[in-house]
Amino acid sequence: MQTIGNRITAPSRQADQRMAVASTGRLSVRPIVVNASAFGVRKAANQLLRELRRTRPATRKVSCAAVPGVQSTTATPLDIVFVAAEVAPWSKTGGLGDVTGGLPIELVKRGHRVMTIAPRYDQYADAWDTSVVIDVMGEKVRFFHSIKEGVHRVWVDHPWFLAKVWGKTGSKLYGPRSGADFLDNNRRFSLFCKAAIEAVRALPFGPGEECIFVANDWHSSLVPVMLKEVYQASGQFSRAKSVLAIHNIAFQGRMWEDAFADMQMPPSAFDKFQFSDGYPKVYTEATPMEEEDLAPLTGRTYRKINWLKAGILSADKLITVSPNYAAEISADPAGGVELDDVIRSRGGIEGIVNGMDIEEWNPKTDKYLALPYDQNTVYAGKAAAKEALQAELGLPVDPTAPLFAFIGRLEEQKGVDIILAALPKLLAVPKVQVAILGTGKAAYEKMVNAIGLKYSGKAMGVVKFSAPLAHMLTAGADFMLVPSRFEPCGLIQLHAMHYGTVPVVASTGGLVDTVKEGVTGFHMGALNTERLDEADAEALVATCRRAAEVFATPKYADMVYNCISQDLSWARPAQKWEGVLEELWHGVSNGASVASGVNGAGASAGAGASDAIAAATAKKTEVRVPVQEKIPGDFPAVARSSNVRRAETGAAAAGAAPVTAPPMGAWRAPAAPAVTPYTAVTTPTTAPPTPKPAVTPAAAPAAPTAVPATAIRPAARPAVARPAETAAPATNGASAAAAGGNGVSADGVKPPAAAGVAAAAKPAAAASENGTGDGAAATAPSVPQVSSSVRSLASSRKAA
Ligand code: ADP
Repeated sequence: MQTIGNRITAPSRQADQRMAVASTGRLSVRPIVVNASAFGVRKAANQLLRELRRTRPATRKVSCAAVPGVQSTTATPLDIVFVAAEVAPWSKTGGLGDVTGGLPIELVKRGHRVMTIAPRYDQYADAWDTSVVIDVMGEKVRFFHSIKEGVHRVWVDHPWFLAKVWGKTGSKLYGPRSGADFLDNNRRFSLFCKAAIEAVRALPFGPGEECIFVANDWHSSLVPVMLKEVYQASGQFSRAKSVLAIHNIAFQGRMWEDAFADMQMPPSAFDKFQFSDGYPKVYTEATPMEEEDLAPLTGRTYRKINWLKAGILSADKLITVSPNYAAEISADPAGGVELDDVIRSRGGIEGIVNGMDIEEWNPKTDKYLALPYDQNTVYAGKAAAKEALQAELGLPVDPTAPLFAFIGRLEEQKGVDIILAALPKLLAVPKVQVAILGTGKAAYEKMVNAIGLKYSGKAMGVVKFSAPLAHMLTAGADFMLVPSRFEPCGLIQLHAMHYGTVPVVASTGGLVDTVKEGVTGFHMGALNTERLDEADAEALVATCRRAAEVFATPKYADMVYNCISQDLSWARPAQKWEGVLEELWHGVSNGASVASGVNGAGASAGAGASDAIAAATAKKTEVRVPVQEKIPGDFPAVARSSNVRRAETGAAAAGAAPVTAPPMGAWRAPAAPAVTPYTAVTTPTTAPPTPKPAVTPAAAPAAPTAVPATAIRPAARPAVARPAETAAPATNGASAAAAGGNGVSADGVKPPAAAGVAAAAKPAAAASENGTGDGAAATAPSVPQVSSSVRSLASSRKAA
């Protein structure tokens, strides 16, 4: 018998039976109640009608008309189902929630039928009980539903979600704190993924089996795996397609191998999950990330499973949040956090820059601004906002002082240590003022708190999470500092530009794709991902000096206008997504153009810029980024949209008539009446993996040495202080469990557990995952030491 979290499972005949049906790929998920006459469904129907009356039918262009053979089908709206652990504003710890909140709305506007499926972490006031209950992995799962702006929002209801994080929604979805994932996350997200697949055919308003699933990050990586290994293998969902969207490759869902048994997956899927790395620890509640997890690698390998890897190998299409990030994560083990080779084996990954929420962040309607503004009144508006901001921060109210702001997590990923190191020289630039807003590691919070006193009249630091101040800074600052060491897409620079505030950015990830040197911002080059480098602080100062020189010249006014005039909404990213999904659904193989949009296979629009930046900044010299596109109103990723490419090829651009899409929300009727329990259910089998031979170092997918021990770069690499074989005596339960954890070394022998901690270590092995890494790694003080925290974002997401 095994204890996992607060639940107990016993290997049983039932499990054996599930194993027995594994080969047929059916059974084990069965509807318990499907009560169509229930109040909930009546209410749902009324709500749906109200929504439909409110929502005008969408029109959209026939974007693929130019592609031979698909003209007749492109007018057909797609059925798109996003499966994600977060959906903003209901649940959010970062960009993942923003994407699944904003993108579906734009896809609906383009005429598609879109559903999101996420766990029900809280008693959302706007979601009603559908009364549909199914059996998944022996558990009863209910579905709640709301419909907003034409998007069906479905919530998977089970105590593993609501009871686990209730009252902590939005911050503790994956564990009690960063770097300490819930022990049963393997079962939680297995249940979630399986319920999500079943939802599309169990719910009366669902699309049925013919749809495109968009899985997001590791938490929903089982969706593509299940589709391939279980459903399609048994003739179900045969036309369904799956996309895996990677929002931050640092989060991979690495767990000890034994976790596979509780996921009730067919043994045939095990190979896809199999992974090994050099880190004898995974970060869970039982073995959380600690400061001492910084020790160098031992050279041994440890057998694990990796959810994201399995998802990458199974999905029909891979997408990430910017073209440049796509290039970075395909390039080498450091960029791809040891999954670069897996991505390359799939032919690369497409990058589409995220949009931003232009309702919450809108200078025209911003309730925190005394004088709202738009692009026609931006100079007056920003002047008023700056005056209010300087007064609020206790800085001299001086319109001629170039004011640089920073908003974000006080962690190495965001480069706050570089700003702090650069501060004395930066503040020596005539008239420069600096404002920092953020929360994060205690050591950095202390330093940020102190700068108001230390640099009185020149700089101010505010350590809190303050939406009002974030809005005031975004509007009132002249420049927004974004010196991230890595940034898959980044929101801060988008917000800043939308308010006419000029970003000063590191040349990484989505910052390269969204900020154009000398046009909409300034680039400081790529920063050292290993440690705090004096050259980086110098680069930051030099770039800010350049910006300050431009400030108050006509060029600066142009840049402000360029920034605020762009369309940074979800509209264009949605157009790009549409193109990719249409290609996938209609099976269009537009070889050359598709390849050009996929990193690893061809150049990205941003690649020219990246190359220039990389070359120039290697020497920390001035960065010149080729500007190939017109500003305002565009950014490079959009130009690489496959549907845009199609439009360029002709017919769509030549005036194909827009078509009217069916009313939004009107999914086709379910295959069977809701009252009829469907039987075509599948699933998993409880079969534990067939024991695998021990991983040999040579067979390891990625040599641990490929990731430097001190890499800031995300981490696959949860560096651990006490490798089992050299473990010092345990000092506390958690680290003892880590030291004695269930890693299996290269020779297949688990590191010996310290006496007395075996019991703690065992559950960790059953369900352990890498935790997020912004926990305790800072050693901080006056010279901030870049720790593993950036690299060790680990497998869940931050629990901010
Ligand atoms: P992350 O990697 O943290 O998701 P992003 O740039 O994508 O970084 O988004 C960060 C978001 O959090 C932005 O909307 C930013 O305004 C907000 N934010 C970060 N820190 C603070 C803070 N201390 N107060 C208010 N808002 C904050």
